[in-house]
Amino acid sequence: MPRPILARIHPDSVRHNLQLAKESAPNSRVWAVVKANAYGHGIERIYPALSKADGIALLDLDEAVRVRELGWTKPVLLLEGVFEPRDVEIADAHRLTVAVHCDEQLDLLTAAKPSRPIDIQLKMNSGMNRLGYRPGAYVQAWQRAREMAAIGEIGLMSHFANADDGAIDWQVDEFDAATKDLPGTRSLSNSAAVLWHPQAHRDWVRPGTILYGASPTGSVRHVTGFPLRAAMSLTSKIIGVQTLAPSETIGYGRTFQTEREMRIGVVACGYADGYPRHAPTGTPIAVDGIRTRIVGRVSMDMLTVDLTPCPAAGIGSRVELWGDQVKVDEVAEASGTIGYELMCALARRVPVEID
Ligand code: PLP
Repeated sequence: MPRPILARIHPDSVRHNLQLAKESAPNSRVWAVVKANAYGHGIERIYPALSKADGIALLDLDEAVRVRELGWTKPVLLLEGVFEPRDVEIADAHRLTVAVHCDEQLDLLTAAKPSRPIDIQLKMNSGMNRLGYRPGAYVQAWQRAREMAAIGEIGLMSHFANADDGAIDWQVDEFDAATKDLPGTRSLSNSAAVLWHPQAHRDWVRPGTILYGASPTGSVRHVTGFPLRAAMSLTSKIIGVQTLAPSETIGYGRTFQTEREMRIGVVACGYADGYPRHAPTGTPIAVDGIRTRIVGRVSMDMLTVDLTPCPAAGIGSRVELWGDQVKVDEVAEASGTIGYELMCALARRVPVEID
């Protein structure tokens, strides 16, 4: 019998979350961000839920080609652009829109002589200080791009450093000042800005994490006003039960000691499945629909839970590691990371089913 662990993907939840994003930014078109194989969910699995998006944004060329092969005819945006002549050939063949963040990429596009002009999103570094032209160099880059026969429409884009904790106007101001005389569509907003910064919505928004039901801040507290639904549930079963006397310890490192007699459930899920090893005692988990906590150290293939709140639970009981009852953000927050990382880190060995 296979291990009882299972990731279930819920395309209907993605459809619902996309609708929520559209309602939050009603005057903008939506690039649905599906990089990193749809944040670990699998592009093909959630693709049917994206039909109301206006474009798909991602990073890897092979993902872009897969999206075209699925039959997507609307725009596809390569968020980091092209790096080699062959990338331009693929972008040309599949009508990809290409982010451009430096002169080297402009030169590459021109040198590759595409069969038709390629649409670009010219990226400004308005304060993130990762990729993009500084505001002072932006108009010149735009003019250079405009003169290139290899380049078609030029959209204007930038990315926020901290839309999740509030302060974005300084970046919006930088962007607006540098682009005030330029034509073209504007695109700035990730999930956090979609939810909380309507002043930054502009022509196109680029939500990622909220499509999958996770909070842009990494904390469920911040999205309580938005009925996001989990696009992935990770479930398993209890495969062993131990009744321990007071002062016994559990698992590697003996990090948890019982305060009283306790029933401990052993769950078939460990860090080799993508569950964070550093999830501490107290991290929420649900057994037979009842919320409880993990206790002791997560090991490679198993973790242990306190069965006190669920006395009827035993071998075979259903466990939700994350999903709609225990949000991935809760597990992430307890473990000092963000839901994005956990979703992307689901291990290959975990079987996946689609609703
Ligand atoms: N736009 C760009 C350029 C990105 O790199 C990302 C992801 O990091 C997004 C949009 C989507 O961000 P989020 O998942 O926070 O919505």
